[in-house]
Amino acid sequence: MRVKVCFMCREYVPLLEDNYINKEKLEKFDSLHSGHPVQIVNEEELENKREWKPFL
Ligand SMILES: [Zn+2]
Repeated sequence: MRVKVCFMCREYVPLLEDNYINKEKLEKFDSLHSGHPVQIVNEEELENKREWKPFL
């Protein structure tokens, strides 16, 4: 699964295609983390995943 992460806040949000709720969540994530170092990665690439907060 692909996730969008913010390296500054150590938060991540899953990227689900064709999912309306997820789309709204992504927009919220983008506006909250605008100006932060945000990147899209594969979930497996997240090191120490337990230290990352899921964005709810
Ligand atoms: Zn952030």
